[in-house]
Amino acid sequence: MSPDRRSVSRRLLLRETGLVAAGLAAGSLMPRQSQAAPAPAESLRQQLTACEPGGDPLQALVAGNRRFAAAWKAASGPMDNQVRRRLMVDLLADNCQLDPTALAKGQKPWAAILSCADSRVPTEILFHRGPGELFNVRCAGNTAFSDGVASLEYAVEVLGVPLILVMGHSGCGAVEAAMDPNASLTPLLTDLVKPIRASLVPGEPLPAAIRTNARYATQAMLRKSELLAGAKAAGRVRVQAAYFDIGSGQVSLL
Ligand SMILES: [Zn+2]
Repeated sequence: MSPDRRSVSRRLLLRETGLVAAGLAAGSLMPRQSQAAPAPAESLRQQLTACEPGGDPLQALVAGNRRFAAAWKAASGPMDNQVRRRLMVDLLADNCQLDPTALAKGQKPWAAILSCADSRVPTEILFHRGPGELFNVRCAGNTAFSDGVASLEYAVEVLGVPLILVMGHSGCGAVEAAMDPNASLTPLLTDLVKPIRASLVPGEPLPAAIRTNARYATQAMLRKSELLAGAKAAGRVRVQAAYFDIGSGQVSLL
C-alpha cells in the first residue's frame, strides 16, 4: 500500500473512534519529555498500559495460560463446587486490573485474538488477563471472516496491537460440522463453514483438522488484508496460530 493510500485508510479507520481526540492512536504515543508533568493523553496511556507485560507479548500469553492451566487442572474432577470456585477465584484474584475510569476513556490492548465463539474459550480467563488487555474477535470456527479481519485491521493500525493470535480449540463443533458433508446447515451456516471446508485435508481426524483450520485462517487473514500483510512484513505485528485444549486448559503454539 502506498504511503498516501495508507494515510487515507488510517484516517478512515480513525474516524469517529474518539481515539484521535484522546491522543491514543498509534503514532501519537511518544512521551512528551519536554513537560515536567505528564500531559493528559500520556497520563491516560500510562493508566491503560499499566497491566501490559514487558518483553515478548506472545510469551506473556503463554505464561498467563500456564497459570490458568494449573488452576484448571486443580479444579478438574469431582469435588465440592465451593472448592472448585475457590480455586478459580484465587486465579482471578491474582489478575492485574486496569482502572475502569481510564478504560471508559480509551483502550490500549497489547494482543488481538481471533478465536471461536465456543463458550469454553473465554480468552481473558484462559490467558489470565483483565479487561482492556486483549482485543477479541470471535466467530464459530475462528475463520478469517471479513468483518473480523477488518476489526483486526483496526486493532493493528489504530490501536497499535503488536500480536495477533489465531486460535482453534479441541472439540470445535464448527470444524466438526464442516467435516460432515451431510450436515444439515442453514444457508448462513453453510457460508460460515465454507472456509473451514477449504482448509480440510482428506483423512485428517478432528484434532488435526482444527489445527489445520487455525493455520489456514491465519494465512487467509493475511491474504484478505493488504494492511495486515504489510504490517507483518514491516515487523509491526506478529501473527501466530495456536490450539487450546479444553481438557488440560493448555494453549499450544502451532
Ligand atoms: Zn469452535
